[in-house]
Amino acid sequence: MNAADDLPPLRDVIRRHGLAAKKSLGQNFLLDLNLTGRIARAAGPLDGVTVIEIGPGPGGLTRALLAEGAKRVIAVERDNRALAALTEIEERYPNRLTIVPGDALDFDPELSVDDRPVRVVANLPYNIATALLVSWLTAEPWPPWYDRLVLMFQREVAERIVAAPGGKSYGRLSVLASWRTQARILFDVHPSNFVPPPKVTSSLVELVPRPAPLACERRLLERVTEAAFGQRRKMLRQSLRTLRTDPLPLLAAAGIEPTARAEDIPVAGFVALARALEAAAG
Ligand code: SAM
Repeated sequence: MNAADDLPPLRDVIRRHGLAAKKSLGQNFLLDLNLTGRIARAAGPLDGVTVIEIGPGPGGLTRALLAEGAKRVIAVERDNRALAALTEIEERYPNRLTIVPGDALDFDPELSVDDRPVRVVANLPYNIATALLVSWLTAEPWPPWYDRLVLMFQREVAERIVAAPGGKSYGRLSVLASWRTQARILFDVHPSNFVPPPKVTSSLVELVPRPAPLACERRLLERVTEAAFGQRRKMLRQSLRTLRTDPLPLLAAAGIEPTARAEDIPVAGFVALARALEAAAG
């Protein structure tokens, strides 16, 4: 039994339901309910909040989110083996857990949740973590349907998300994340906390949507960063040629030196370039 919710320990749940971790599903389970409680509190307070959890697995984080007072948890899980274990949690918290079997990449939260606020809290499967994050960061309209994302990533990815200009980690993902949100690393989680332990340290990242990001067309911003970071060692006057328009007037309009490199340009510079590209297209 566990003090927080009188459900059985997660090791027992895994044994009873035959939930041996599958690498192909990015399964690294958190079995320490003190740690899942810490993650849920870091995403809180949860009173009145509808939480979307991607990949609940045996339900360690799900249980913590419910014990910490989430109004409702909508849990999207691709592994059918986990559904019976999740149903036991649903029975312990009647009407507060909705289990959605299937692929999170096909799940449209906007269609599934009419309540607000909505928050995404997840120990993500690493193989689709970046794709999911990009889909949430490119939500339209903006501000998005969620009030916060609290997500576990491999530390190297977390560092790319929160990176400031001037270093190796700064890239397309940093620009997109920082354009639309305020992102920060909350804390690191050592591999030994997972079963099986992954090769690398993980980090919990919080992203809070900016109510009014610098105005520009998102797709043009993405085109500019794709071109600039596609050849990140080159000067922008060279790398931006892939935009198929003369980079020099764009750089002049954006007030950026033609000899500058992508990793030194702050978000405001990329936004200025996207606006210049829009103006150039007429
Ligand atoms: N939340 C659990 C925990 O913290 O112990 C499990 C986290 S584990 C890193 C990732 C979970 O995502 C697994 O349960 C896995 O089956 C699930 N998963 C993998 N790919 C998925 C997908 N495409 N859609 C939904 N869930 C997926």
